[in-house]
Parts: sequence; structure tokens; C-alpha cells
Amino acid sequence: MADGEGWPTSTDNPAVRRLSDWPAEPLRDLADEFGTPLYALDLDRVKANTGRLRSAFPEADLSYAVKANTTRPVLETLANRGVGAECAAAGEVQRSLAAGFPPHRVRYTAVNPPARDLDYVCGLDDAGGMILTVGAMDTLNRVAERGFDGRLCVRINPGVGAGHHAKVSTGAEPKFGVPYDRAATVARRAADRGFELVGLHAHAGSGIAGDDLSDHRELVRRMGALAADVEDRLDFVAVGGGFGVPYREDDPALDLDAVAAATREAYAEGWRGGANDTAPPQLAIEPGRYFVADAGVLLTTVNTVKPTPETTVVGVDAGMTTLVRPAMYGSYHAIRGLEPDTPRRELVPCDVSGPVCETADVLGRDRSLPDPARGDLLAVGNAGAYGYEMSSNYNSRPRPAVVAVEHGEPRLVARRETLADVTRFEAEAEDS
Ligand SMILES: *Cc1c(COP(=O)(O)O)cnc(C)c1O
Repeated sequence: MADGEGWPTSTDNPAVRRLSDWPAEPLRDLADEFGTPLYALDLDRVKANTGRLRSAFPEADLSYAVKANTTRPVLETLANRGVGAECAAAGEVQRSLAAGFPPHRVRYTAVNPPARDLDYVCGLDDAGGMILTVGAMDTLNRVAERGFDGRLCVRINPGVGAGHHAKVSTGAEPKFGVPYDRAATVARRAADRGFELVGLHAHAGSGIAGDDLSDHRELVRRMGALAADVEDRLDFVAVGGGFGVPYREDDPALDLDAVAAATREAYAEGWRGGANDTAPPQLAIEPGRYFVADAGVLLTTVNTVKPTPETTVVGVDAGMTTLVRPAMYGSYHAIRGLEPDTPRRELVPCDVSGPVCETADVLGRDRSLPDPARGDLLAVGNAGAYGYEMSSNYNSRPRPAVVAVEHGEPRLVARRETLADVTRFEAEAEDS
């Protein structure tokens, strides 16, 4: 999209929105109005991503793993579209209910849940409508102690992992879920204890990519086979999220239809392997990243330009406290200059570095950027997922502001934190 054009229209629905597809002028306007660092989220792109997921998986139950981005307008947008909420903590359940997800569309998947989380969830008036997913017999006991008698789902450790990085692969990590070969027993025991067992669940981590779907197929096949092995009639079998998005400019977009076809085939294969001639439980998917990653950019301003023998260090006002993925996972995020004269500037090799006193605080190394100057506005791509959500106050740094844009109209979603916000809890402790 060239300068001067408006927001991409919602009738455009390409498989991916690249950083280069965002219009520069409206992003500059947002930075002028709201300051930087600033997360900008395009809700129309969230809707478009939802539409593509729905058309690739028309038969599946679709949920959103809310931990990717819990800002209110994102949750409202998806709740309004009948998408379910997959929650990993009590706070996510609270936000999802507040944003309008009906209780029966909310699943809480407890991973080593703190007592406070279970107290909250089991104490909700509408807990009966929700689905609680447990990944250990021990959790099942704790839930029973709290009188929960609602719908239950058992999380399985499928023993196969997807993932572009060991830290985001959960499929073979013993922390997550009941071991595969004990799963049928645990599921039966849950049913025997009077829980309404409605589903089985597995999530292998993030990074399903088009070139190799073999791990994903194997996970889905195993889940189909397990469903056939559990005597109870289940409502659904959830096979997780992890649908990849291209972070590098030249990575191909995920072929959703191919993923859907592989999922469908593997599921039927696993189910029929159990010699079943009935229809299997409904398939359920729960992407997080895919809904929101390319619907968001991070805007940041250059504050320091330092030529060094190795490279030009471009110091910006966003860093690992704003977007931690590069520091935490070594993730790549595209970075682009947004100044109107960008096309006329010479390209210079740069490291784009944040203001935090940590070596890891680099948003991008060895980038080629239009000759940077202090005050330039830069955009960081694919920042809609696990961006604001993972931001922190390390270095006593206030967290950034967030704006949501719908039909080209911006509105503030989260105000920028102030220095007073950063010390608020200590101040309150002193006053109390
Ligand atoms: C994080 C998570 C997801 C979503 O992962 P993405 O890579 O964002 O799609 C799905 N299910 C569970 C249980 C998760 O914890």
C-alpha cells in the first residue's frame, strides 16, 4: 500500500498482511495523536482472519486462545462472531466473560493452576456453563474439592511437539497434560466421579508451518484414536492452536486449506482406527496468534543514532519491555521506516535497539533501513500477538499505549502508563 492511501478495506482478505501492506500515512497520524511506543490493532484484519479460519474449517468449533491478545475490543470482536474463548488463567476468564463471551463458550485450561485461580473459576455463578480442562489427576481432585460439577475436558500430552523454538513447544513437555497412555484411564475416572466429560484436548505449541505437517497430523491422529478409545460420548476433540504466521517478509503464508485437509484426514484416520462406524466428536481448534498477529503493528520513534565500526545502532523508544519476543525467543519481526521521504534515502545496515539495559534488548539485528535520523518513526510488524500481552515494567519502564482501529477510525484501548503508575503498588502499600 503506497503512502497517501487509507486503511486496507475489509473486502481485501489476503492470506497474510505484511508490514509493507500497512499504509504509512495513517500510522504516522496515529503516532502523532497517541505518541510512541504505540501498539495499533486493526480490528477489521482480526475479522478477516476469523473469516479465513471459518472457511477453512467450516465443520470445526472455533475458539480464540485469548492469551495472544486480551485487549477488550479484540475479545469483543471475536465474542460477537460466536468464537469461543480458550483461557489459561483466572484473569483471562474474567476478561472473557466481561467482554461478552457467554459462559458456555469459555474454556479454562488449567496448567498447574494456583489455588486462587481455581477458587475464582469454581466460585463463579456461571462456572456450570464453562468448560474446565484439567491436565492432571491432581487438578481433577482439587476441582472436585471445590465442588465443581460442570463440564470437564481432559488435556492430553500427545507426545509430539510442534514449535519453532523449544520454549513454545508444549506437545512433548511433561508439564502439559496427562501422558497419552494414561489418558483413557483418567478420562474414564473423571466420568466415573460424576463429572460431565465433554471433551479431550491437546495443544502442541506454536509453529505449524506449511512445509511439514507431519507432527500436526500425528497429534490429530492420536487424538482421534484416543476419542475412539474413551467409551463416553464426547462433544468435541480440541487439537490446539499453533497456526503459524510468516514473520519474515519472504516466508510464505500458511496454507490454511492444506492444514485443514490434513487435520480432517488425520482425525478420521485416528477415529476409524478405533473401528468406529459412527461420526466422531466435533473437531475443535483454538488458534491465538493467527487471529491477531498480522492485525497489529508496534510504532516506535528513533531517539539515538550511533554509527559504530560494526553497524549503525538505531536506538528506539520501544524495547524488550514493549515487545519481548525477539529477546525471549530470538524471534524475527520485520521493521520498516515510515517517513514520507523513506524511498529516497539510502539503505544502511542497522541494529534496532531498545532503551533497556540488557544485551538482549534488540528488536532487530542486521536490518537494512533507510538512513535513520533522530525522530524517525518505525513500524515493527506482526506485533498483534504476544506483544502488548507480554509487555512488562522492567527497568521501571511504563507500558505503551494501545489503539484499536475499526473502519479506519482509531480509539484508545489502553492508555500509556505513567511513572506514577509504575510505582503505584508500592505507594499504595505505604499508604495502607
Ligand atoms: C497458547 C495456546 C494456544 C494458542 O497458541 P497459538 O500459537 O497462539 O495459536 C492454544 N491452546 C492452548 C492451550 C494454548 O495454551
